[in-house]
Amino acid sequence: MWLQVALCLSCLLLGSQGQERAAFHRTNDRNSRCQYTFTVASPTEASCPTVGGGPEVEALKSRLTLLEALVNRLVGGEAGAVAGAGPDTGLQEAYVQVMEEKTQLQRDKERLDRQVQDLQRRLEELRQETERLRARPCQQPPPPSAPLQDQRPASDPAWQLGGAGYQEVKAEVTEVPAPSQNSTGCGELVSVREPESHRMADSIAGKYGVWMQDPEAVTPYGPKMLWRIDTVGSEVRQLFGYEDMDQLVRGFPTKVLLLPEPVESTGATMYRGSLYYQRRRSRTLLRYDLATESIAARRDLPHAGFHGQFPYSWGGYTDIDLGVDEQGLWAIYSTNKAKGAIMVSQLDPNSLEVKRSWETKIRKNTVANAFMICGRLYTVASYTSPNTTVNYMYDTATGQSKAIALPFRNRYRYNSMIDYNPAHKKLYAWDNFHMVSYDVRLGKLEGN
Ligand code: CA
Repeated sequence: MWLQVALCLSCLLLGSQGQERAAFHRTNDRNSRCQYTFTVASPTEASCPTVGGGPEVEALKSRLTLLEALVNRLVGGEAGAVAGAGPDTGLQEAYVQVMEEKTQLQRDKERLDRQVQDLQRRLEELRQETERLRARPCQQPPPPSAPLQDQRPASDPAWQLGGAGYQEVKAEVTEVPAPSQNSTGCGELVSVREPESHRMADSIAGKYGVWMQDPEAVTPYGPKMLWRIDTVGSEVRQLFGYEDMDQLVRGFPTKVLLLPEPVESTGATMYRGSLYYQRRRSRTLLRYDLATESIAARRDLPHAGFHGQFPYSWGGYTDIDLGVDEQGLWAIYSTNKAKGAIMVSQLDPNSLEVKRSWETKIRKNTVANAFMICGRLYTVASYTSPNTTVNYMYDTATGQSKAIALPFRNRYRYNSMIDYNPAHKKLYAWDNFHMVSYDVRLGKLEGN
């Protein structure tokens, strides 16, 4: 700036004729204001002719006024630049804020990218699991002559280890004669195969439950229809229907029914177009007709314990267990008179009347679950042990029971329901959120 001032002054001085005698001073006055003093000797006169006048002086005043204006403008511009620090600071703050927001958005984007990748990975895993399940046959009985190991899923590690369990089952099968069943397809249980997983429940309400397939389905639902009840909770009333196994695997019910009265525990069963179940906190058995969606029959099971009086070993109010086999509808329970021993009653499917009862010597609370096959009661030893056994059999035809030891696998270690389906020769079970099934192998009945 001062260079500009000097140039201007030089111009002024060049405009005068006393260039070599000109003097310029800059000092503060008494009010600390900057004062410029410019002295030029007259080129033609020895003294001033008049006090304070003359054209030269007026010209110099005019030039000085211009010079002051120029200097003030330049100084003012500089001061303005300093005063402009306010807006500059505001801009800087805004810039910093924008950069921080940009950084935060970048972090959010990276986090969302990671979530998307996680979801894509989970989706791919589910897709592969679905493909694997679809590839496994659900309802194809194995050819009788096929070697056992060829019928096992190759992906099941339990059958690739060549462990003791495999050898044991293999040895057992080789000792059993070829199945020889009577005209009803009945036979003695000789083995239970590895569980096949179909579906995992989607919420805590499905930690235990019951799933069923009517062995003698009637309209309006076909034989492929599957039914499911999640039984965690105090007001269990929802019955989910799936038109086939694919729909169950996908988890899309095609029918949801609200039962008029709540369900107790996991003992329900499906037979000839009706759901049979124990009403909550009672020994009342109900027959719910699927076609009319209403209760078609109700009857108390005489003297039966309920709501924790005689449950299976896992508890869960499993006092009354209903099941179906080749001979019809059964109830498995206990009474005070039987002192906790398992009672078996055959029921009339229409009226729920007890047709006949048997008292076994098997303590109900010492076994994990039970099921009927061909008029015989079978019990499972443990609901948590991954490798347990079918440990007792009671034959209603002879009134005799015997201890047996058929390997049985609880893959998910919390098996809350096991029932037999005579149409498919399978056990259906609910093992710790998982709906699983087991193929069973029947030998010949004694006397056949
Ligand atoms: Ca059962």
